[in-house]
Amino acid sequence: MSRAFNFSAGPAVLPLEVLEASKQAIYDYNGLGMSIMEMSHRSKEYDEIIKTAQADVLKLMELSPNEYDVLFLGGGASLQFYMVPFNFLRKKANYITTGVWASKAAKEAEKVGETKIIASSKDTNYNYIPKEYKADDDADYLHITTNNTIYGTEWCKDVEGVKIPVVADMSSDMFAVQRDFKRYDMIYAGAQKNIGPAGVTLVVIKKSFLEKRKDIVYPNMLNYKLHIDKESMFNTPPCMNIYVVGQVLKWVMKTGLGNVEANNRKKAAVLYDFMDNSNGFYTPTVKVKEDRSLMNVAFLIKGGNPDLEAKFVKEAREKYNMANLKGHRDVGGLRASIYNACPIEWVEALTKFMGEFQVANK
Ligand SMILES: *Cc1c(COP(=O)(O)O)cnc(C)c1O
Repeated sequence: MSRAFNFSAGPAVLPLEVLEASKQAIYDYNGLGMSIMEMSHRSKEYDEIIKTAQADVLKLMELSPNEYDVLFLGGGASLQFYMVPFNFLRKKANYITTGVWASKAAKEAEKVGETKIIASSKDTNYNYIPKEYKADDDADYLHITTNNTIYGTEWCKDVEGVKIPVVADMSSDMFAVQRDFKRYDMIYAGAQKNIGPAGVTLVVIKKSFLEKRKDIVYPNMLNYKLHIDKESMFNTPPCMNIYVVGQVLKWVMKTGLGNVEANNRKKAAVLYDFMDNSNGFYTPTVKVKEDRSLMNVAFLIKGGNPDLEAKFVKEAREKYNMANLKGHRDVGGLRASIYNACPIEWVEALTKFMGEFQVANK
């Protein structure tokens, strides 16, 4: 099989060795004569898979199982947009809206209770991360989105100076950078950007935060406490997907999270530096350098030339098998998503093509 250079924003590229392990597990898990898809989620073999994955999540985050719980839930990150306020919004919630996903999260909270947007970069089509913000002392939590998949901005620092609990949607940079995870009371991530296939969402909740939940939470499926009491097995979990996430976690551990981050920094630098030196032929849509995403690189050709951009996408695919470079419709232009499993060679191949394309289309 020849692998495409896949720059998809999600579902996105996974490490080849994860695909290979999954292929085997789909056919015959560990010589049991059963597919991972055919096994009981209550079997001791499956229990081992999910428990190991939960433990590995906390190891990578350097969090203690005495302080945090790990869930693998269905419904995508989008369900978390509602589940967070449904469980925790008593009086008021604070949100920082740095993109469409962050705004969707805030909109869901508005359905539940008082929701205040304390900072936003909407005024400039979300092309930076607000630095000035003050959370309300009496708010139940502050919600942020660490990486803005569509606009290509990322919180390069952890939240600072906030005394209320912080909840973070890390869907598109989970295990891509080392963060001081202890600063967060809750973290969630849809798996399909960096840590696995679509259909499973990683949720990490601090026990002391869980204690602050609302008293009555129904329906059951939206109740974090219940999911935690049932060790993420209240109902049949997305078994196969959790297995794949477990394999990705192994891969991150083997590589080392520090090395994963260093690779991501290198890849992003290759691409942004190339564009910054292209005499304006290519321009990243995010001008503030420290806010540029390591994961999703959004850019324009000649300041936004739809014909040239369409030609770029077509040629990339036809000549070099480079896929999914079209930008999101809300931003236009192009976007290269270079998640953890994207090798630096792909980024080098992309910049080589970009150089050729520039010469041919001056
Ligand atoms: C993709 C994405 C989502 C939506 O995830 P679903 O699993 O499709 O619900 C939410 N937040 C961020 C930051 C994303 O990148």
